[in-house]
Amino acid sequence: MNLREQREQYELAHLSPFAAKSITTKGRSLPAEKCEIRTEFQKDRDRITHCKAFRRLMHKTQVFISPEGDHYRTRLTHTLEVAQIARTAARALLLNEDLTEAIALGHDLGHTPFGHTGEDALDTLLPDGFRHNEQSVRVTSDLNLTNEVRDGILNHRTSGNPETLEGWVVKLSDKIAYINHDIDDAIRARILIPTDLPKSACEILGETSTARIDYLVRDMVRYSTGKNTVSLSPDVVVILSELRAYLFENTYAHQLHQSERKKIQTLLRLLFEYYISHPNKLPDELRERCDDPAQAAADYIAGMTDRFAMKRFREIYMPSAWEA
Ligand code: MG
Repeated sequence: MNLREQREQYELAHLSPFAAKSITTKGRSLPAEKCEIRTEFQKDRDRITHCKAFRRLMHKTQVFISPEGDHYRTRLTHTLEVAQIARTAARALLLNEDLTEAIALGHDLGHTPFGHTGEDALDTLLPDGFRHNEQSVRVTSDLNLTNEVRDGILNHRTSGNPETLEGWVVKLSDKIAYINHDIDDAIRARILIPTDLPKSACEILGETSTARIDYLVRDMVRYSTGKNTVSLSPDVVVILSELRAYLFENTYAHQLHQSERKKIQTLLRLLFEYYISHPNKLPDELRERCDDPAQAAADYIAGMTDRFAMKRFREIYMPSAWEA
């Protein structure tokens, strides 16, 4: 038996009966040779980590636009926090940690520049709308990922219904991560003060982000152990929803003043109009893959980092100095 086969046998012997096993994966769209060392889900995790879209997450907004401070989250650090929380929960529940990690690392690869403001802008520009979870699957189409990883990525949003428990772990871990780290960043930016947070939520979950994440992960593990479902306990679901609603009202709505939102919408709309009317300015690989000009323009813009979008905008629409 090679190392991969040993690992596959280990999964069969030691993981929960409800865990996804790499030996019984539904497989990939295109046939691919198996690795001697890594399981199919480990291969997917590595493919995601090595792709360009993963590196671009470093310069994409989480909540704060191109933050000047070194301590604010970016889409990359958010992704790593989700992966860490999800792996802890998956391991405790005897689920497939490799599948969980692959889904977590890939879940936001299709996120636009400028966070959800960018996503909302693209959503209004495309005839069929734009959703970052679907874009994450489009972005990874070249990677020929397994069905389970693609399903988990596609279904990580609140409305999603993943096929695997590992997908559910990531979906909950994403929420646990962003609610707490966005509160933490909002406090850092002095948009919120800790004593403003809903008292009931803090009394039960904890006074700090660290304490709340710890409580939520333990609740998920306690409530889901031995079951064929993964969820938080019903009381905690209600408390977390209150905290999320508070965050939406007091941070996301206030953080970007209407004028900043408008600037981002205008910037992305003008880039979109430019690339629709100048498809020859799109990278060759994008044009070859997609013959719908609006979709190709959206694919290009969605892949941009905040700073690259602003650079392109300046190059296209701003006069430049004459260099003799
Ligand atoms: Mg996320």
